[in-house]
Amino acid sequence: MTLKPKLYGLVGFPIRHSLSPCMHNAAFSALKIKSRYKLFELKSNQLKSFIGNLAKSNLGGFNVTYPYKEIILDYLHSKNAGVKEIGAANTVLVDKFGRLKGFNTDYLGFARHLRKLKVKPKRVAVIGSGGAAKAVCFALAKMKVAQLCIYDIDKFKALSLFKRLNAEFGQTKFDVATRIEELEIQDKDLLINATPIGMQENDPCLINEGMLHKGLFVYDLIYNPSETKLIILAKKCGLAHANGLGMLLYQGAIAFEKFTGKKAPVEIMQEALLKGAKL
Ligand code: NAP
Repeated sequence: MTLKPKLYGLVGFPIRHSLSPCMHNAAFSALKIKSRYKLFELKSNQLKSFIGNLAKSNLGGFNVTYPYKEIILDYLHSKNAGVKEIGAANTVLVDKFGRLKGFNTDYLGFARHLRKLKVKPKRVAVIGSGGAAKAVCFALAKMKVAQLCIYDIDKFKALSLFKRLNAEFGQTKFDVATRIEELEIQDKDLLINATPIGMQENDPCLINEGMLHKGLFVYDLIYNPSETKLIILAKKCGLAHANGLGMLLYQGAIAFEKFTGKKAPVEIMQEALLKGAKL
């Protein structure tokens, strides 16, 4: 009896424009694996029945994105250490009984991208304290950065992330800013935008030129558009910068390895992403 190739996918809402299928499907083709990766755009009232039907399905695993990275924890039968620490999962393996094991490859992907960029930050300012910011802050804390200051429009959310980080990591000095100016970007060597501000054409730039200085690396987690107003400003000021495509690539590559047990063809996945991002 030949086994049907496993199916994989992305669970979230809205995800119509996701680049994950092109990246994973290019990797399956390159390794001659007959699996496919597809989108499962689910409304919140559809998530429970989707999970309930997994044992009968052919799904080997899935990635999770906004808004389900935290809700998914309620459905996991086991979590690896990263998921427990961060409190969010973005990669799930499904066993033959429909039991779910959760991983967080976002923070690993971000850390891997920084290593590739040869960015070794000491003092970091992070804008945002949602799901993506959590992964980024845990990665930075694990790297033992000296200082990490968080600003979010919702100060209670920023404070709650600050408290968790402060309780877990002793080697980093954490701060919360209640205004963007309090991030004290002039003393930082890495600035990260982990908010969705910049995705829409009419979005403002949260930073002005006067806040930037020589030697600052600007990292915008947004990859669509590839150049946000923040990235355009960083370029104008001659600063080193990156968008979030690298984080997307590496979290996907690590997820692919968990799905298949095979080394991810990273260059092929990157090519597929770059091609997809241009469409
Ligand atoms: P999220 O959970 O909604 O978090 C965004 C946070 O930013 C929220 O706490 C939000 O506060 C806050 N915020 C909104 N406007 C702000 C402002 N003007 N100033 C300060 N804070 C503000 O979203 P997410 O899942 O973390 O995603 C954030 C961004 O990262 C998105 O653009 C997403 O596409 C990107 N991302 C990229 C990758 C990658 O691989 N490159 C991975 C994950 C996410 P409120 O909730 O009060 O609005």
